[in-house]
Amino acid sequence: MQDCIFCKIVKGEIPSTKLYEDEDFLIFENINPTTKYHYLAIVKEHFATLAEMNEHQAELLGKLLAKIPTLSEVLHLENGYRLVMNQIGATGNDAKQEVMHLHIHIHSGQEM
Ligand code: AMP
Ligand code: ZN
Repeated sequence: MQDCIFCKIVKGEIPSTKLYEDEDFLIFENINPTTKYHYLAIVKEHFATLAEMNEHQAELLGKLLAKIPTLSEVLHLENGYRLVMNQIGATGNDAKQEVMHLHIHIHSGQEM
């Protein structure tokens, strides 16, 4: 996706602080953290929402979810953490999804 900022981060066209990367996934620091630690986990392949996701992408998302707790030390998950996914809907954007490349917010490092 040409104008997607997270695709640009994947391609290295926009800088990011990466915590984890492999062929399929990237986890990087949120530029505007709202908790002590605030990361964004993405499947590199572009899709905007859960509603748009195909079967292959669903499999990748499952693998990404399974990957997160294996990175406990690096992501500061030892004391518990919160995952958030904001999703635009068919007729509105109540949750205020801003970036239309599906991402998981990972919040950690403090009581919430
Ligand atoms: P959402 O409302 O779930 O779409 O949130 C998008 C998130 O992406 C926000 O928390 C932003 O702070 C974050 N964000 C936007 N641009 C960047 C960037 N270039 N690097 C890291 N995080 C970003
Ligand atoms: Zn994208």
